[in-house]
Amino acid sequence: MSDRRNYRNRRSRDRRSVERRHSYDERTPRDEYSMSEEADQSVSSDGRMRRRKRSKIEKFNFQMQANLLLAFGVVIVLLLILIGVLIKINIKDGSRYAKKVLNQQSYTSAEIPFKRGDITDRNGIVMATSIKVYNLAIDPWYVLNNQDSSKKKYKDAVIDVLVDYFGLDKEEVTNEIEEKGNSRYYILKENVDTELVNGYEEYVKKYQKKNKRTVKGIWFDEEYERRYPLDKVASSVIGFTYDKNMGNWGIEGQYNSTLNGSTGRSFGYYDSELNLERTVKNAEDGNTVVSTIDSMLQKIVENHIDRFNADTGAKNVAVVIANPNNCEILAMASSNGMYDLNNPRDLSFMYSDEEIQAMSSDEKLKILNSVWRNYCISDSYEPGSTYKSFVIAAGLEEGLLKGDETFYCDGKEVVVEGTKPIKCAKRAGHGLITLEQSLMFSCNDALMAIGKMLGRERFAQYQNVFGFGHKTGIDLMGEGTGIVYDESGLNPIELATSSFGQGLNVTMVQMIAAFSSVVNGGYYYEPHVVKQILNSSGAVVEDKEPVLVKKVVSQKTSDMLLTFLKATVEEGTAKHAKVEGYSIGGKTGTAQKLPRGDRKYLVSFIGVAPCENPQMIIYSIVDEPNVDNQAQSRYAQELAANIMKDVFPLMDISQKMELISIIMILTEVIIQMILYQPRNLRNLLQLKHLNHRKHLLLMMVMKKSMNLIHLIRKYRKI
Ligand SMILES: [Zn+2]
Repeated sequence: MSDRRNYRNRRSRDRRSVERRHSYDERTPRDEYSMSEEADQSVSSDGRMRRRKRSKIEKFNFQMQANLLLAFGVVIVLLLILIGVLIKINIKDGSRYAKKVLNQQSYTSAEIPFKRGDITDRNGIVMATSIKVYNLAIDPWYVLNNQDSSKKKYKDAVIDVLVDYFGLDKEEVTNEIEEKGNSRYYILKENVDTELVNGYEEYVKKYQKKNKRTVKGIWFDEEYERRYPLDKVASSVIGFTYDKNMGNWGIEGQYNSTLNGSTGRSFGYYDSELNLERTVKNAEDGNTVVSTIDSMLQKIVENHIDRFNADTGAKNVAVVIANPNNCEILAMASSNGMYDLNNPRDLSFMYSDEEIQAMSSDEKLKILNSVWRNYCISDSYEPGSTYKSFVIAAGLEEGLLKGDETFYCDGKEVVVEGTKPIKCAKRAGHGLITLEQSLMFSCNDALMAIGKMLGRERFAQYQNVFGFGHKTGIDLMGEGTGIVYDESGLNPIELATSSFGQGLNVTMVQMIAAFSSVVNGGYYYEPHVVKQILNSSGAVVEDKEPVLVKKVVSQKTSDMLLTFLKATVEEGTAKHAKVEGYSIGGKTGTAQKLPRGDRKYLVSFIGVAPCENPQMIIYSIVDEPNVDNQAQSRYAQELAANIMKDVFPLMDISQKMELISIIMILTEVIIQMILYQPRNLRNLLQLKHLNHRKHLLLMMVMKKSMNLIHLIRKYRKI
């Protein structure tokens, strides 16, 4: 249709220019003559010209002035009328005229949409993609007002095709075309099947041949539609789009410009032979974002959250799994934010139809925003005893603790003379306990003593070092900072309660980053959800290297804390997190929510596995479990244990060191000895290519072997 339209326009323009050329040709001789006459005058007699001017002024009498004034007045009035008309046109019909002007241009220009890049999980499984869809478009004005060479209107043939090929209703489609009779562009049907699009040209050819008619004025508009093949999986990490390519929340929002490409354009114009020439500037497709998320792990986590909610239920349940060695987030979910990405405004997973219908649009938007926000990075809460790990790490790092200290817990501590004593979880007191036991049994009394040893300055300093009170810098929108006391706020009471994780607020992602650093040898990495950017043909554009922010504690501190965490799961308060056959460390938290009198709790567990060579950390939170006695961290522990059971085999987390593993490590040591030839035992233990866990294990194996040799010698003597 545009071809025909442009042809018409071109013809009228050509006609106009021919007319102009014609009149110019007619005018030329006369104009040339008059010009030469004037030139003669000016050159030949200056004096005469001056005289003529003077006589003109003399003749410019009152009558002429009046005429001039009248003419001037008429021109002004006409101008005012013209301005008025223009303003009226602009206000009333501006857009209509703009469209008409566009219609009369002699070239065509059409947008070519780009494909927004995919979001994949760490293994390349597509979590968000854009697929091409076709809309059936028509030019109603052209179809109604034009006819083919045999003088048959296009309308009848077009309606035939729309009914027979696209299956549209004859009466409806006829009405629609007539109603839109002045329009040059109208979408009759969205999302036409690709098969219909592909077969269209052939069908039309046959139809035209058979019926001796021409079909014109129908075409397909291409566009892309965002789809999420895994529906609700990782919804709060992925986010969604609106208005086609505007990312909202999650990776879609954070990496919006990376995912978007640039729109192309096709230009068409008519050459002197009236052939349509086309130039095309291709669209540039967007880049693919590879997430650190493992969709398998994510699904397992979400299934367990669903199961927990079905069995017990809670106000909210949230879980994060990360790699402590670089702080890549492997799975992240909270029960309040597991919505269908293909239908992000659907609240039916939380509310009944009646409830949804009763909502005002403001109410609904408020609820939607609470669903879309990512609890794991945005919301802060009181952590409780999981925080003790960091206080003990600070004490060890400062050399205030060596590991062999003992504390006496009598069940309470009067921090400031004349104030109420602050109680330990065990009211009767833990008695005399070691440093390790203070973590294992989660003793508040011992931790208050450690907090006091650190003092307000160092305590505040370590809170800062571990990143509490600050954003971690995770590559997602809407991160919270939590709230901690600064040095001036850490008066004796606040220092005492902060030491066991009360009176301060943290986010899950802060805990993940800080816990990673204390179990990985002291390296604080920026948590992140994206690991790579690929271009549309799959080549790597950018590797997102893990960002090492700082060294927070020494290897020695980290190693010692790991042994404490392991003991806490083996024999301490985190026994419910045990998974048979695996080496797990961790710490529980049971935080009473404000106001304290309501007896509402947020219980949690943060764990690491395997302790000898940490490969994953898991953090689970159950906010107000649906039970009478909420103050039981076992809800969070069991949830974590159930998830770990399912994910360990997938993550290649090795089981406890059995004979086979020891043989494998010894083989590795022997290979390294051959390769690097250490001169003595000391050098052997410093082999660069063995990590610290394997060193520990190697030392353990050697110690055991020495004992064995010792025993054999003893036996021989006997
Ligand atoms: Zn105690």
